[in-house]
Amino acid sequence: MSEIRFQNTLTGRVEPFVPMRPGEVRIYTCGPTVYDYAHIGNFRTFVFQDVLRRFLEMEGLRVEQVMNLTDVDDRIIQNAAAAGIGIREYTEKYVKAFLEDMGALGMERPEKIVRATDHIEQMVELVERLAAKTFTYTSDGSIYYRIAKFPAYGRLSKIDLSGIQAGARVEVDRYEKADARDFALWKAPKPGEHFWETRIGPGRPGWHLECSAMSMHYLGETLDIHTGGIDLAFPHHENEIAQSEGATGKPFVRYWLHAEHLLVDGEKMSKSLGNFYTLRDLFSKGHKPSSIRYLLASVPYRRQLNFTMEGLQQAASSVERLRNFVARLAAEKFLPGETPAMADRAARAISQFESGLGDDLNTAQALAAVFDLVRDANTAMDRGEFRAGDAAPVLGALARFDRIFAVLEDQDAAKLRALGYGGAGAELADGDVERMIAERQAARARRDFTASDHVRQELLERGIILEDMRDGTVRWKRK
Ligand code: AMP
Ligand code: ZN
Repeated sequence: MSEIRFQNTLTGRVEPFVPMRPGEVRIYTCGPTVYDYAHIGNFRTFVFQDVLRRFLEMEGLRVEQVMNLTDVDDRIIQNAAAAGIGIREYTEKYVKAFLEDMGALGMERPEKIVRATDHIEQMVELVERLAAKTFTYTSDGSIYYRIAKFPAYGRLSKIDLSGIQAGARVEVDRYEKADARDFALWKAPKPGEHFWETRIGPGRPGWHLECSAMSMHYLGETLDIHTGGIDLAFPHHENEIAQSEGATGKPFVRYWLHAEHLLVDGEKMSKSLGNFYTLRDLFSKGHKPSSIRYLLASVPYRRQLNFTMEGLQQAASSVERLRNFVARLAAEKFLPGETPAMADRAARAISQFESGLGDDLNTAQALAAVFDLVRDANTAMDRGEFRAGDAAPVLGALARFDRIFAVLEDQDAAKLRALGYGGAGAELADGDVERMIAERQAARARRDFTASDHVRQELLERGIILEDMRDGTVRWKRK
C-alpha cells in the first residue's frame, strides 16, 4: 500500500490516512433525499465517493461503505400526504431511478444501502441515550438537542455562531426552540401527515438523527471516513457530531471528506435555483454515461467544477482517445520482442497514477500520468519502435486506470438502451458524429488507418454511414 493522504475537514489539514482497524475502512456516505431525481451536482459528490472506495480497494483495503437513502424528510412526507399515498410508495420511483443512475455511471454499490424508514428504532434509542445525559428537551411535542451542552459544536465547519444568540427564542420551522442553534431530533406530528408512534412519543425523526443512528448502527461508534457534499458540513454533519459524540463520549468520525460543488455559471447547481440537469436530461440530449462519469471524476473533489456542455464534449473526446488507443493496441501488428524502455514507461505511469490518487485523490494528476503514457506509446508506434511484447505492460497500466475511472469498455449504447434512450445510433448527437469524423480525418492525415477504420466502424455500428468525397471532405447520413 502506498501512502494515502486526505484533506480532513475536521482538522483543516492534509493527513496520512491510517484506518482504525488494519486492512479495513468503514465509510458512511450521506445518500440522496429521494423526493425527486438526483441532479448531476449530486452525482459529482457520489462519483467522488465511488472514486474514493475504488481507490481504497485498489490499495488492498477491505471497504465497508454504508449509504443511506433519506426517505424521511418534510418534503417527502408532505408530498406523499398530498398525493394520498404512503412514504414507500412515493419514494419507490426515485429510489429505483437513483439505483439505475448509479449503474449508468458505473458506480460500485456500497456494501449497504439503507433507508431511514427501516431504522426508526435505532433513532429512538439514540434520542433516549441523549435524553439520559440531559442533552435534550421537549417543546410542543418535539424533542430538541441542547447545543449549549456540547462545547465542541462548530469545530467541523468552523462556522462562527456568535451571531446566533444563545437563549434567543425564535420560531423556526413552526417549532419552538430554547436556543436558535438548537435543532429538532424528533418532530411532533402534523395533522394529516405520516408519523410513528414510539417510546419517545408520536412523530418523525429529524434528518440529522437519521444519519447518526444509521452510521453507528452499521459501522460502530467511531467511523473511519464520513463523506458528503460541502453544503452538508453545516449544519448536517455538525449536528451528527453533536448527537453521536454527545451520546457515546467517543470521537464519531476520524476523517471528514467533503466534495466541493458542481457549479453552473458560477452558482451551485441546485433544485431550488432551477439550474440543474438530471442524468436523464443529458442522456436525452445524446450525451453518454461514460462522458458524464469522466467529467465528474476528472476534477479533484476538493475543487469546484464548473459544468459546461463544452467540458462534457471534451470529456467525451478524452474517453474516445483512450478507447481508440486500446483499439489500436489490439488491431495493429507490431514487430516481435519487447523494449525495456516501454515497460519502464508503463511502470512509471502506474506509480504516478497511484501517487496522484494517494495525494487526496488528485484525479487530474492521475489522469495526466495516463495521457502522457498514451502519448509516448503512440509516438513509439508511429516511429515503428513499439514491439508486440510492449502491449501487455501498457494495457496493464490502462487496466489500473480503469479500476478507478471505469470508462474504457464501451457500454454506453447498451446502458442507454436499457434506460430507454433510443436504439443504436439514436444516441449519437450530430455534434458527436462531427467530432468523430474530425478524429477520423486527423488519423488519416497522420496515415493511421487502423485508427481511422476504427472510427468508421464505430460510426457504422451506431447507424452512421460515411461517404468520402473526391475533394477529401466527408458526408454522413443515418442508416
Ligand atoms: P441531497 O439529495 O440534497 O441530500 O444531496 C445529496 C448529495 O449531493 C449531498 O452529499 C449534497 O452535499 C450533494 N450536492 C448537492 N448539490 C451539489 C452540487 N451542486 N455539487 C456537488 N454536490 C452536491
Ligand atoms: Zn447524512
